[in-house]
Order: sequence, then C-alpha cells, then structure tokens
Amino acid sequence: MAYKTDIQIAREASKRPIQEIGEKLGIGSDDLLPYGHDKAKVSQSFINSVQDRKDGKLILVTAINPTPAGEGKTTTTVGLGDGLNRIGKNACVCIREASLGPNFGMKGGAAGGGYAQVVPMEEMNLHFTGDFHAITSAHNLLSAMIDNHIYWGNELEIDQRRVVWRRVVDMNDRALRQITASLGGVSNGFPREAGFDITVASEVMAILCLAKDLSDLQKRLGDMIVAYRRDRSPVYARDIKADGAMTVLLKDAMQPNLVQTLENNPAFVHGGPFANIAHGCNSVIATTTALKLADYVVTEAGFGADLGAEKFMNIKCRKAGLAPSVVVVVATVRAMKMNGGVAKKDLGDENVEAVKKGCANLGRHIENVKSFGVPVVVAINHFVTDTDAEVQAVKDYVAEQGAEAILSRHWELGSEGSADLATRVAEIADAGEADFAPIYPDDMPLFQKIEAVAKRIYRADEVLADQKIRNQLKDWEAQGYGNLPVCMAKTQYSFTTDPDRRGAPVGFSVPVREVRLSAGAGFVVVICGEIMTMPGLPRVPSAEAIKLNADGDVEGLF
Ligand code: ADP
Ligand code: MG
Repeated sequence: MAYKTDIQIAREASKRPIQEIGEKLGIGSDDLLPYGHDKAKVSQSFINSVQDRKDGKLILVTAINPTPAGEGKTTTTVGLGDGLNRIGKNACVCIREASLGPNFGMKGGAAGGGYAQVVPMEEMNLHFTGDFHAITSAHNLLSAMIDNHIYWGNELEIDQRRVVWRRVVDMNDRALRQITASLGGVSNGFPREAGFDITVASEVMAILCLAKDLSDLQKRLGDMIVAYRRDRSPVYARDIKADGAMTVLLKDAMQPNLVQTLENNPAFVHGGPFANIAHGCNSVIATTTALKLADYVVTEAGFGADLGAEKFMNIKCRKAGLAPSVVVVVATVRAMKMNGGVAKKDLGDENVEAVKKGCANLGRHIENVKSFGVPVVVAINHFVTDTDAEVQAVKDYVAEQGAEAILSRHWELGSEGSADLATRVAEIADAGEADFAPIYPDDMPLFQKIEAVAKRIYRADEVLADQKIRNQLKDWEAQGYGNLPVCMAKTQYSFTTDPDRRGAPVGFSVPVREVRLSAGAGFVVVICGEIMTMPGLPRVPSAEAIKLNADGDVEGLF
C-alpha cells in the first residue's frame, strides 16, 4: 500500500475558517487578529480578560533519545490532542514554530506527520505570521545600535573585542559563522570580528518564549548582556537604549498564533527556541493562554527527555509556575531497534531481541520523568512496519518498569488511532497523582545545579570543569545571578556527551567546555561538547527539490 506524503495529506485537509476554531476555545472573532483565512493571533486584551479562570491540565510529550529512525514527538502531540477531542474532551495543542534553516536543509517539517498534522503546513513551515522575521529584525536592530554606539564615540567604553552580541539570520549559512565587520574605511566604523547565529538561537527568541507579557518582555530585553568593558563590567541592551524599539518590533510576534489540526481542533503554534543553548519549548504565553481556554493542553519539548523534558520542568515550568499532570514519553519500535544495535537499513525486519536490548534507554527516561513527581505513560508511535511481537516486547518492558505503554496509530489513522492513548492519558491527568517539583532549588549554587542534572538525569559519575569555569560561575553568583536555572547544551543523541553512546550508559563524566550567561532569558547556558549555533546545509540540501508546480502549489517541502 502506498502512503501519501505529509504535504499531500495536508493539502487535502478540509480546513474550517479560523473564527470557527477560535469559537471552540471561546475566543470571539473580535479578539482574533486573522492572518488570512486559516491563521490568527489572539489579542492581548482577550488574554488579559481570561487570567482569573482556572487552568486546564498540562500534558507534556517528550521522547527517548532521538535516533535517525525518527520518534515523532510533534506527530504524537497532535495525534493525542485530536484523540482527546475525539473522546469528548476540550483539548488544545501547543507546539513550536518552524525555522526556515532546517526546512531547506534536511530536517522534516515541524507540523507533525501523516494524519496527525497542523495546517496550513506549508505556511507554518515558511513565513507563517512573520514572528521569526520580527525576532530577526529586533535582534539585528540591537546589533546595529551597538556598532553605531561605538562609531559615534563609544561613550559606554565598550571593549570592541568583547562584544558578545552577534547577528542572526533564519537560514543555515555556515559562511557567516565568523566574519569581519565594518571593513572599508573610516566611514564604516571600527573593523572587528563578528558572526551570525541562526534566529532560533537568539536570546530574543528565548525571551519571547519565556516572557509573561509585553512589559516583562521589555524588561528581559533590557537585561541582556551585549558586551563587556575593559574592566570586564557588563554592558546591557538597556544601556544601548534598544529595549523600547525592540519591544515595538516584537509587539505582534508576542501574540500566540492559532491554527487547526487536520481534524479541525485548535492548536497554538508559537515561538521556537533551540533546544540546546535555549530551552526548546513553545512560548509561555501560548501555553498559559491555552490552559485558560481548554481542559487539556498537550505540548511538546524538543529533543529527548534528558534535555527537553528536563528543561521544560526545570526552566519553563519553574519560571512560569506551570505543573504538568502527566508526561507522555514517545518511543518507537524502530528507535528501540536502533538503540539495540540494528542499522538503519535493516529496520524493516522483525528483530524482537534488538527491541528488548534497546529498551534500556526508554527505561532510564521513565525513571527520570518520575523523579519530577509526575506520572508517565509511554506512547508507542506505531510505524506500519512494526510487528505485534515487537510492540509486545516494548509493552512488557515498560510494565516491568512500573509504567504503561500504549500503542498509538495516529500517524496512519488520526484520532481513531490515538483514542486509547487519549483515554488513558485523560484518566491519569484527572486522577491528580502528580506532585511536581523541579529537581533542584533556586538557591542551590550553580555548579551544584549542573551536577544535579548530570548525575540524576544523565547518570554521570562527575562533572569536569576548569577552575576558570568554576570561577566564572562564582562571579555570576556574586553578581546576583546565582538563583538562575542551568540550561544544558549537549548532544541530543545520548545521555552522555558522546553522540555514539546509545542505550543507558554508566561510568562516564560530563566535561563542561564553556558557560554563558543569558541574563535576559534568565538561565546559565552550560556547554558540554560541540554546539552549533549556526548550522550548515548538507551536500544536497532539500532546497534543491523545492519548487512551485504549474498550479502554484509548493512541491518538495516534505
Ligand atoms: P519530532 O517532533 O520527534 O522531531 P516529528 O513528529 O516531527 O518528530 O516526526 C518526524 C517525521 O517522522 C515526520 O516527517 C513524520 O511524518 C514522520 N513520522 C512520525 N511518526 C510516524 C509514523 N508513525 N510512521 C511514519 N512516519 C512517521
Ligand atoms: Mg518536533
């Protein structure tokens, strides 16, 4: 049987006007700011008006460590949201926006897959409502104002060698990673080394996703450190007087975007910070708004549960006062097999032994999530090549761990395939068993916070860091940043810092290469290993196959 591509399915969707989707959440058309027929932003005055309402239940979707086999977190998030609506619940999905860079490189889309997608998927994967353009503009306005400040006399005494604020563009472009700026003579300023990151790596993105409202946004933008003086004292965006104009540029981007699933259920798609040097979750404003409007909110965190769920809980939930009722860990038979040593080309063949062997990775994630005090359900995201014996092997393993695994066929069947998962997830959420708490307190010293994550989540023996790094952390504590959470940046493929160590490794250490202060976003980034903030394109980028057909439809986008 031939299966349709994601874009074919998306194009055949029978979408409802966005006003009808808004009505399902009780948002009147006056409070929707439409961007065409099928996308709308929600007005701030409406968001303000619902603040006294009771919150719905928050459901986090996370996964095992990703493999090239693909896990399907977004697909499962959307499928579960539709499943909940199908069984009569009032549910809403919250996911991240897509970055242009990976779309033209090699990653799949960001809108889910098969019969569990949000639409319009082409637009969501392209310019959408312009939020990322706004973030890019706000970020680069600050960059321009810094160089302009230096040009006109440098009253703030910025050390030109210590400008830490780079530029951004929403494209995978390795040529821009390191550049020399201001060449060409006196009227172009003072030449200095600079560089570009991809927009999703901008601190402005992280701030937009953590800010409660526009005044919180402006405060956090002002708090960002952009450079240091010769005496190493920090210069803030506020000193450059950029925070006001940046907030103006971000005014509309701050409002959550409402779209729909293939089954016409509401979905917020808003924000999209990197999951390594930032926290990898959709915006706080979208999640908190959805919780006021729906009884169940299903949301996703990037990468595996060691990074995504850990940051969702220790950063996003802590900062926004959120508490998940249940966590869904997505696993696939294929990924279990890869963890069990099967090569990608052999994934189609039944191999129950390899499935069993690969389950250790899943087991550790289950334990970890439980350590936050939240009940866990495993969703086996069904691929049509999975055999019954393989699925049973995963279920048996999970049962031995004192949890429950439920097969879900949303990719193939939409909500009909996810109704069982939805029923069980709703039961657990309603039972109110969760007693959520972050795994470290605010007042723990920064280095101990790093150790807490490395030892209790990754299961490392120790954290290695030079004296220079430890002193830097102490300096930040002395300056009043000691109560911030840590944002770990390491490979998503392994519990360790070595991407090739799959499964559930023990007997390793976590070396910290560098620490960075994101003072506006409100976390300390801990870099363990090579972390790319400007990706490159592969030898054959997917852009080569993307074009418009004779009907004016987009071809080749997934
Ligand atoms: P993640 O959010 O974990 O990165 P996605 O949900 O975006 O993963 O899925 C990645 C890709 O895998 C998508 O192109 C999607 O269509 C595909 N995919 C997901 N689940 C399945 C499945 N059950 N069967 C086949 N393909 C799937
Ligand atoms: Mg995803």
